Amino acid sequence: MPLPNMRVGNVAVEGLSDGILKTSVDLVIGMDRARADSLVGGTQNGSFYIPVNNFLIRRDGKTILIDAGAGNTMQPTLGKLPNNLRAAGVEPAAVTHIVITHLHPDHANGLVDDAGEPHYPNAEIVVHATEADFWMRPDVENDEDRVKKNRARTAINLKPYLDRIRRVRDGEDFSGFTPVLAPGHTPGHTCWLLAAGNGTGFMALGDVVHLSAIQISHPDTALTYDLDKDLAIKSRRRILDMAASEHLAIAGAHVKAPGFGYVVRKGASFAFEPAI
Ligand SMILES: [Zn+2]
Repeated sequence: MPLPNMRVGNVAVEGLSDGILKTSVDLVIGMDRARADSLVGGTQNGSFYIPVNNFLIRRDGKTILIDAGAGNTMQPTLGKLPNNLRAAGVEPAAVTHIVITHLHPDHANGLVDDAGEPHYPNAEIVVHATEADFWMRPDVENDEDRVKKNRARTAINLKPYLDRIRRVRDGEDFSGFTPVLAPGHTPGHTCWLLAAGNGTGFMALGDVVHLSAIQISHPDTALTYDLDKDLAIKSRRRILDMAASEHLAIAGAHVKAPGFGYVVRKGASFAFEPAI
């Protein structure tokens, strides 16, 4: 079955789903619960679902995924990416590269199966050096527990890929992808800019907006997940501003599925206009 896709300039990006993630307005910092509840269109005692979107780019003989989904480590509504790839005629073994926005569970736990075997046995991991180094270094004593926990999980996620991790630094390019460091949610959280010619391009947003119904129109709302809330807010404002100013096509991990659209200015803030 053909995948939903968006084409800009000389680049086509296809959309894939890993499923839906049950989340909560209680993660939101800096907004009262009733307001958050109404922005997401109502909740069940605070809970609601957001999509987990992944993306596929086929170019220059490469088959590139953006992020790897959650695997079955989080909720039964997730972990659908490998089968959705197969349904679209793409064997996971044919994936040559996985470009990572950040190494949180809903983006990286799907790299491996229950036995720790790679879902993508031939893929190279492309990740910002700052993100890889933070999650792959040994714990130090005053690290937060949540950091230690995600580091332990990252070791499982990356173990089969250790000899094929490409650490990319600012200004470097991987097959048309340029990293735009957007730290705060995690220290090396990265938006990937995919140039499409004639000054156009795609931007993979990652978790610059984790709760898109709230954080695009209210960029100053942080999340309990953010490791550095103030920095996350700064990064969000900068990236949304860049996306709107440069009219970048968006490939958004948690915006309305399949995740394509544009960020536009709305007063002093922003809105998302889905393209599909
Ligand atoms: Zn996420």
